[in-house]
Amino acid sequence: MTILYSIVVPIYNEIGNLPELYRRVKEVMDTTDEEWELVLIDDGCTDGSTEKIREFARADKRVRPVIFARNFGHQIAVTAGLDYSRGDAVVILDADLQDPPEVILDLIEKWKEGYEVAYAIRAEREGESWFKTFTASLFYRIIFRITDVKFPLDTGDFRLLDRKVVNVMNSMRERHRFLRGMSAWVGFKQAGVEYKRAARHAGETKYPFKKMLTLALNAITGFSYFPLQIATYFGFFAAGIAILAIPVVIYMRMTGSQAFYGQATTLIAVLFLGGVQLISLGVLGEYIGRLYDEAKGRPLYIVREAPED
Ligand code: UDP
Ligand code: MG
Repeated sequence: MTILYSIVVPIYNEIGNLPELYRRVKEVMDTTDEEWELVLIDDGCTDGSTEKIREFARADKRVRPVIFARNFGHQIAVTAGLDYSRGDAVVILDADLQDPPEVILDLIEKWKEGYEVAYAIRAEREGESWFKTFTASLFYRIIFRITDVKFPLDTGDFRLLDRKVVNVMNSMRERHRFLRGMSAWVGFKQAGVEYKRAARHAGETKYPFKKMLTLALNAITGFSYFPLQIATYFGFFAAGIAILAIPVVIYMRMTGSQAFYGQATTLIAVLFLGGVQLISLGVLGEYIGRLYDEAKGRPLYIVREAPED
């Protein structure tokens, strides 16, 4: 029985990367002597990538395009790729060649050893700003501390998933997705492979700070209640201080002390507690907003053109 590999690539305005991406994926996958398909998800491209993707699909039946009706974001695009993939093993890859396709062979090797999730660890990063590297590293460490799922540090979505894992993940239809967390959450046998993350081949990052922040919030709210609990801890702390302070202040007044008189103390206390309460409300809001999105039950994405087969 021959094995089929699926390579899933989300694409958002990557016209400068597409030819090289196709060439390198083809080169690497042809060395496996097994069958493969390349699932390209057009996440609402506006730079002509769509036509390029169609062109590849016409010339090579192994290329299967999924064209979205608009931009839905990276995590959703990858999700659609997983939905449409048919392989026994599915590899998630970025279009900008930051994840070298050659590493797929190492991932496949792990899979053949019996691991069901083989993730790629970024041992080194090239051509990224210190800000990106720093926030990414900080983010992975915070997430690691506050969530119950112990997902590996410094891994992106670049990974190989066994069909069993893909099927489980496809049954998880949550809207605010953090795929690397989900693929750790499912369990199974997991192993990592180190690689050097290259610089972008062409174009600019499609992850501005705002999108990175949303991804981070999705990761935290998706896998932890810790932010909600902070309000509780803080409430106990503030109430505790107040209870201790009452007898102290009564005693001071009775002995004629003038300390803590006046508006400044009151004002600071009111502003401080008001601030904390508003922040707690905001945290609640993050969870409730996500809850509302789930309740609406809209489709995760809208496909304009699905693969022909
Ligand atoms: N991407 C996408 N939709 C988006 C943003 C990004 O499909 O809304 C794709 C993008 O084309 C690329 C991958 O997601 O293949 C990773 O994006 P990028 O390389 O810009 O992120 P970075 O590596 O800078 O974190
Ligand atoms: Mg990139």
